[in-house]
Amino acid sequence: MKIERIKESRFTPESLNIKSFGNMFGDHMLVCHYKDDAWGNPEILPFQNMSFSPALQALHYGQSCFEGMKAYKSEEGEVFLFRPEKNFERINNSAIRLDMPPVPKDIFMDGLKKLIDIDRQWVPSTYGMSLYIRPFIFATEPMITARSSKEYMFCIITAVAPDYYAQPLRVKVADRYSRAAPGGVGYAKAAGNYAAAFYPTRLARDEKYDQVIWTDSSTHKVFEEAGTMNVFVRIDDTLYTAPISERILNGVTRNSIIALAQQNGWKVVEEAVTIDQVKEAYKNDSLKEVFGVGTAVVLNTFSAIGFKDMVCELEDLPFEESWGKQLKKQLMNIQFGVSEDPFGWRVLVEEQND
Ligand SMILES: *Cc1c(COP(=O)(O)O)cnc(C)c1O
Repeated sequence: MKIERIKESRFTPESLNIKSFGNMFGDHMLVCHYKDDAWGNPEILPFQNMSFSPALQALHYGQSCFEGMKAYKSEEGEVFLFRPEKNFERINNSAIRLDMPPVPKDIFMDGLKKLIDIDRQWVPSTYGMSLYIRPFIFATEPMITARSSKEYMFCIITAVAPDYYAQPLRVKVADRYSRAAPGGVGYAKAAGNYAAAFYPTRLARDEKYDQVIWTDSSTHKVFEEAGTMNVFVRIDDTLYTAPISERILNGVTRNSIIALAQQNGWKVVEEAVTIDQVKEAYKNDSLKEVFGVGTAVVLNTFSAIGFKDMVCELEDLPFEESWGKQLKKQLMNIQFGVSEDPFGWRVLVEEQND
């Protein structure tokens, strides 16, 4: 792998002292080009602007997908990835659905580990903070013909993720717009899925909600996802979450939360709950907690669920009573190397010499 190191690192102690997420980038990035039916050699370069034709296919026809994952640092200074093979599999499932070429495993895994190794000082050592990792594939052929591109780029960039206190969210249940539909691209992390969700989310914000709970596209009666998180509903002592399907993003956090809940001896049912079930449970006081899970915030509890005709206000349960808060702690302790890793989820980023 060709590596061109930055002449002078942009890193300062202030780099990790940030309040918001998304534009404090690590020193380096990984870049790999696909051309003439083959992926070339990946390169690690200083993070920098790229220049493209205005006819870049991805801008016009949206062949573009991404991943989101994190690197964590333990108190001892070790750097870990969390189940990175899941992100590798998923970026390729997304790519194939968008008629883009899958990335070979060695390019993804070796490139990822090398990049994080080189930029390891950017991984904060504060519990709760991490280095967010954004792998993405997009179409680069300069043409406005409506067909699949013949050229692509695979890149990985990183950005410091602060430990923002996850405020309980007010969520609005979708009754008009949809995130995913049968036969669609809901299971893919397609860039366009996000574009399509922004407008309905803005409308929900105008009504003083933070996020949308997406429902099934035909009846709007079944809970599917929450914003960009998988959603869990606890009714009495059963945790429900929608089963994986072509409309549901197969979240790594979702999968891990299910495993941890089961390890705790808690009942998890991979069955979607309906609006009527949630309202009924609220009325008879058995709706204990509702939360969303995803790499960004790990787990976010919901304080209110807004329906067309009523709003369910949910109590903020203390730690000992909240399955969500306990699961979040358990998962973070594994990610940050604080507790044992019985599932073998952590992957150490070894220090390599070049
Ligand atoms: C990324 C994403 C998730 C969460 O997936 P994780 O692997 O847990 O980060 C859930 N839903 C949607 C729609 C997403 O894009």
